[in-house]
Amino acid sequence: MPGIVLDGKKLAKKMEGWLADRVQVLLAHTGGKAPTLATVLVGDDPASAVYVRMKRNACRRIGMQSRRVELPQETNTEELLDAITSLNADPDVHGILLQHPVPPQIDERRCFDAIRPEKDVDGVTCHDFGRMAMGEPAYGAATPAGIMRLLEHYNIQIQSKRAVVVGRSPILGKPMAMMLLNAHATVTVCHSRTTHLPDIVRQADLVVGAVGRPQFIKADWIAEGAVVVDAGYHQGGSGDIELAGVVDRCIAYTPVPGGVGPMTIATLMTQTLAAAETALSAGTP
Ligand code: NAP
Repeated sequence: MPGIVLDGKKLAKKMEGWLADRVQVLLAHTGGKAPTLATVLVGDDPASAVYVRMKRNACRRIGMQSRRVELPQETNTEELLDAITSLNADPDVHGILLQHPVPPQIDERRCFDAIRPEKDVDGVTCHDFGRMAMGEPAYGAATPAGIMRLLEHYNIQIQSKRAVVVGRSPILGKPMAMMLLNAHATVTVCHSRTTHLPDIVRQADLVVGAVGRPQFIKADWIAEGAVVVDAGYHQGGSGDIELAGVVDRCIAYTPVPGGVGPMTIATLMTQTLAAAETALSAGTP
């Protein structure tokens, strides 16, 4: 029997409906001050431009505003820091999304960490990561936080499960591992220098593919009855996992597309609205 489809598209759509209602409540309480996400896109990577457009479209669908900041490919670190500093100081901006990756001459970590914690709705700062890892209130990186939300929605048990995360990037693999650990999984994190990767993946009750290489994780590495989360997305529509050979043997899986991607955006919207609610209620007499 095929595994359950962890339908991120469907859940994200539901979440957008709930968020749209909350936006209306906020607008009524604040005399029309709309939650606003600033999207910062540096350079001319077409995929990044598409991701930013999808995020701005989501803002529009739920009644939030977005502020577009676009900087040229040759932007340097100081110029990007200046842009972030002015968004930090702007009371009408509640969340800041700096689209990853930025051009190579920019110190991306410095720029991420310049985002004020209250506006770090994409969960990219060291501050946010540290708090999340310690189990303190934090927004959390949007993609892994979206995956956790999806797993929770489908009542996928995490506690005591053996989770294997393939990938350790700051925005995905590492925070994913910490979130699963906080949810009481036993977590193994794999990366480019991991040896015997297929054997490690075979031990997993839950596999997260976050490698950035199409169909890199082979179907026959995945144990029968595992939960399969594919965070990857590549041109042509494949993910990081060879899903076709797994869907009939796993308990549940995220489709590509329509699994993790929509949850990332819905989580970013949720966190932006939460930031706006906090900021605007603090400003209301
Ligand atoms: P990334 O920064 O390139 O990180 C890739 C990770 O995979 C690194 O930790 C790397 O290890 C590891 N890796 C590379 N080759 C490997 C190998 N042969 N064996 C084991 N591990 C290997 O990528 P990312 O930003 O985390 O993205 C990962 C995937 O998720 C991509 O497909 C991306 O498109 C997707 N993604 C999706 C969303 C969404 O919203 N749906 C958001 C973000 C990313 P090292 O650390 O050792 O180099």
